[in-house]
Amino acid sequence: DADAVYEFVRERESSARTYANTFDAVIERGNGTAVFDTAGRRYLDFLSCAGTLATGHNHPVVIDRVKRFLDSGHVMQVLDITTPAKHRFLERLFDVLPRSFSGRARVQFCGPTGADAIEAAVKLFKTATGRHSVIAFHGAYHGMTAGALALTGSLGAKEKVAALMPEVHFMPYPYSYRCPFGLGGTQTATASLHYIERMLSDPESGIRKPACVVVEAVQGEGGVIPAPLDWLRGLRALTHRLDIPLVLDEVQAGIGRTGSMFAFEQAGIEPDAIVLSKAIGGGFPLSLVVYDDRYDVWQPGAHAGTFRGNQIAMVAGAACFDVIEQEGLVEAARAKGDHLGERLSELAKRHTAVGDVRGRGLMWGIELVDATQAADALGALPGAGRLARDLKRYCFAHGLIVETGGRHGAVLRLLPPLTVTTAEIDEALAIVAAGLDELAY
Ligand code: PMP
Repeated sequence: DADAVYEFVRERESSARTYANTFDAVIERGNGTAVFDTAGRRYLDFLSCAGTLATGHNHPVVIDRVKRFLDSGHVMQVLDITTPAKHRFLERLFDVLPRSFSGRARVQFCGPTGADAIEAAVKLFKTATGRHSVIAFHGAYHGMTAGALALTGSLGAKEKVAALMPEVHFMPYPYSYRCPFGLGGTQTATASLHYIERMLSDPESGIRKPACVVVEAVQGEGGVIPAPLDWLRGLRALTHRLDIPLVLDEVQAGIGRTGSMFAFEQAGIEPDAIVLSKAIGGGFPLSLVVYDDRYDVWQPGAHAGTFRGNQIAMVAGAACFDVIEQEGLVEAARAKGDHLGERLSELAKRHTAVGDVRGRGLMWGIELVDATQAADALGALPGAGRLARDLKRYCFAHGLIVETGGRHGAVLRLLPPLTVTTAEIDEALAIVAAGLDELAY
């Protein structure tokens, strides 16, 4: 039975696993936004594998392409040799890249995860510039391997791991709600840019010119914080002026999630590199870096890896791009995101435990506050993290999968597939609202 299966796996799997601790069911099937456990219970999946499943669970076009590929006799693994599947995938990828960038872009296929591609990007720019350090941001999340973890802002994830590479300097991200450095509103972004500029140009700051700046246009794990578009433009202007390559981590926010193919496009900027994973493989493991060929300094073999360029993931990824185009999912993410945002604003008005709602497209966060608790030195409310965790558990028990993130884990994160319906959005928010009614102190 399901309990025995759950226990069998729990006893054998690493205690580092996360989702399984809260979502204590045996999930068997999936269809669109819904997944079903072995007892046939339905859950709305508003996590969608941390935003991976742009086209939802088991989209028929993706499934059909993968099936036909497996039946075709084409090779499944050939290291990085050229194949028709790679050709097709690259055609689709270059179609969706910003036009002026695609003309001078190169791709490095990486291992299966976002962290692999982050590591590759940092290594590329360290090689190309001969510089050592990297600039990342407070609250940033870039992965769990040593190099990627070094760029991750939250100490909680890394304080027990000594001496990570590389040398990283953290700069303030423009988080205006409960801004940790004492400013709020539009001042936050301006002050952040001013600070970064001073730190990078003042020889007394102790910061050497970095190999690159790595940034998320919308922080995901950090608590769904969309950077103001002016801030992104300011960061691009500054890095241009100082000749520092700008790397956009679009692992979570990319591929239509925020209502444009890439989140940075809304600021009208062009990065020197884009890091992609999650949705790029259509539900299969794939990651890559697309970068300006000016920086293509690697010799053959400089960045190898057996499974870079998984053929099935390329087939599924190309199918995912086709579905996004055919079903107009980028525009749909905007329209449905507006609907979700309006519903969330209503929720915020009705529930005092909701401090802030924010997002772009179909990437939203609900930052909870706990008025019964004193704020910590940085203005955050630790009790709100408990409320968010309890609310996540309540949601799961009532058929909705959501995740938490941000400072003290106080932000409930909503990342439904881009194929989600407005009826499903309303259903999900009714569960969240009922949970707030029952739990909020
Ligand atoms: N960058 C961002 C913005 C992410 O959200 C994540 C994963 N949540 C990563 C990098 C790391 O990806 P992975 O978990 O596949 O290593």
